[in-house]
Amino acid sequence: MRTLTASEAEARERALVEARQRDIDDKKRAESEATERAEREAREAAELIEQKAEEVRRTAKRAADAEAKLAAAELKASKAAAVVDSEPDAGRSKARRPSGGADKPAAPPKPRNDADRRRGKLTVSNALNDDGERARSLAAFRRRQERQKKQAMGGSVTKEKVAREVIIPEVITIQELANRMSERAVDVIKFLMKQGEMHTINDVVDTDTAQLIAEDFGHTVKRVSESDVEEGLMGDDDPVDSMKPRAPIVTVMGHVDHGKTSLLDALRNASVVSGEAGGITQHIGAYQVETANGPATFIDTPGHAAFTAMRARGAKATDIVVLVVAADDGVMPQTIEAISHAREAGVPLIVAINKIDKPDADPNRVRTDLLNHEVVVESMSGDVLEVEISALKGTNLDKLLEAILLQAELLNLQANPDRAADGTVVEAQLDKGRGPVATVLVRRGTLRVGDIVVAGAAWGKVRALINDKGANISEAGPSVPVEVLGMNTAPDAGDPIVVVENEARAREIAEYRERKLRDTRGAPSARSSLEQMMSQLKETGKQEFSILIKADVQGSAEAIVQALDKLGTDEVAARVVHYAAGGISESDVQLAQASKAIVIGFNVRANKQARDAAETAGIEIRYYNIIYDLVDDVKAAMSGLLSPDLRETFLGNAEILEVFNITKVGKVAGCRVVEGNVQRGAKVRLVRDNVVVHEGTLSTLKRFKDEVKEVQVGQECGMAFENYQDMRAGDVIECFTVESIQRSL
Ligand code: GDP
Repeated sequence: MRTLTASEAEARERALVEARQRDIDDKKRAESEATERAEREAREAAELIEQKAEEVRRTAKRAADAEAKLAAAELKASKAAAVVDSEPDAGRSKARRPSGGADKPAAPPKPRNDADRRRGKLTVSNALNDDGERARSLAAFRRRQERQKKQAMGGSVTKEKVAREVIIPEVITIQELANRMSERAVDVIKFLMKQGEMHTINDVVDTDTAQLIAEDFGHTVKRVSESDVEEGLMGDDDPVDSMKPRAPIVTVMGHVDHGKTSLLDALRNASVVSGEAGGITQHIGAYQVETANGPATFIDTPGHAAFTAMRARGAKATDIVVLVVAADDGVMPQTIEAISHAREAGVPLIVAINKIDKPDADPNRVRTDLLNHEVVVESMSGDVLEVEISALKGTNLDKLLEAILLQAELLNLQANPDRAADGTVVEAQLDKGRGPVATVLVRRGTLRVGDIVVAGAAWGKVRALINDKGANISEAGPSVPVEVLGMNTAPDAGDPIVVVENEARAREIAEYRERKLRDTRGAPSARSSLEQMMSQLKETGKQEFSILIKADVQGSAEAIVQALDKLGTDEVAARVVHYAAGGISESDVQLAQASKAIVIGFNVRANKQARDAAETAGIEIRYYNIIYDLVDDVKAAMSGLLSPDLRETFLGNAEILEVFNITKVGKVAGCRVVEGNVQRGAKVRLVRDNVVVHEGTLSTLKRFKDEVKEVQVGQECGMAFENYQDMRAGDVIECFTVESIQRSL
């Protein structure tokens, strides 16, 4: 920017002084004329309005013209006013001009200037706004015309409000509710907003809210419970005269290595040889053996894991349990577990004393051992059938089958084959080539190719049925194991499978179950805990407490059982589902789950798998080290007076890698934290083979040379106990805190 010359600067100065002087003069004049001007303005305005009104009255076009003119005039006026308003600036800018430096700034016409001054508030934006308002009103007029035109043309398109009957299940999403009402979801959300609740279309509302909404939208409501879809699914019981005998379904159980698999193989092979020569049996999860007295069906998964898993789902898929006990080994922990499982399920036992071909076999020892577990075999004048067999040599297999069929006869197993089938899924998997494949045992009725079935949350049309010989068959009656092809996904073992009338029904049920699964998943419900049992007792008058006991030695377990037995009154009793010595295993948790029992560990711990299983299943595991405490708690729960609980919080486990003897300090265990963390000041237990050998506090927790507060998983540390020295490499140090929890029931 160039600098002003002396003359220019002078001219500018002069112009400014003149402008200021004029400004002052103007103000004075304006003040003296203010009243007069106001009157004149009012008159002018009135005239204008009158004039405008008259013109409007003539013709619409002329009125519009007048308005436009008026608008133009007004615009001009405001522009002029704007100039006046910024007069000092104008003066300055003019003064800056080199040529007209000494010019007097042009003054706008007086009246306008005066009027604007009187208003005082008229600014540039004000003037423009005024203008804008006029423009908007014209546009609005046009829009209104457009709207009217549209309405005239498409007036009939607006929807008639239809009142519907809206079916409302227990829970419904806003989207689905809107769909069922044929309303827009946003309207529903708006409605809820007005009630002060913010929701998105995927939110779930309960029945009451849904009803409120539907009624507010003018619809009628029909409330249904979703579980209604399952109503009548299983069909009625069959009339007695329709019943025909069916094959027994057998599960083989027993201790590991006692020969369960060998026995199942032997029976299957015997069947193949006697049946079709050279036939190959297919592993489909179950198979049928033909005998002179009729067929018997075996579930091809030995052990009680599958049995219990199925039972936990409420499926009673087994009629008879064959308990395999090796004659050279006798009754072992899992033998006892199997007995407990069978007894809990109310399924009769047949004892197969196996490996009698072995020189050190002692079948009588097995018989007497079993007596200790209240299994009295026939030869000891009891009612449990027993057969001495050799699975390896094939000895007495026919006798075993005979015993099974005899037992079946006693059970009087019958089913009506002439009805829509239902049954149980024994196992299911996704097959690479064939899709979801489910092995099914038909309970009653006859399953046919083309039937529509639902199993758990899976459904489908039976595309093919394949039997245990690998042959395609067209139908399967009661107790016949078959592979079912054509389901949409693989169901779970133990799921009931039912034939329904059509695909819509099947889909509806499967979808409902899927939803239910989704809802309950991730929400572990404490299904059996001492507290829960107590509240159940209070609410429903439940008569017994199911308890599973594991202790460090058999003697303690028995002592606990006896002590609990004495607690029983006329109204309530503790029922011991199973008791044994040893750590708490996954199968204990499974049994507890199936029997809705709690698990009590006396001086023993649960291993990792058992802990995880208990957590998923919602089974409470309680640890005690004083029988008195244990009995006291159960007693308190029985009388409904569970006292404040000392609850343990598990912090972590450390494994002892090596034990050092340090003079003056004593023994220090070099450990690695394998789970969670360990903390100084917390309580600790020394666990050897899942049995607690010591409980106390830490005297030292060291990392390298330093005493530390806490050691995290994966790190190594040194630990020493207060007043205890006997730790060994391989032991586990469990770290936990104890807090007192007041019960709230
Ligand atoms: P599982 O764990 O109960 O299924 O037991 P297995 O069927 O796998 O059998 C364990 C072992 O015992 C295998 O080595 C079999 O060969 C053997 N075994 C099974 N039955 C007999 C039998 O009757 N006599 C003899 N000597 N050995 C048997």
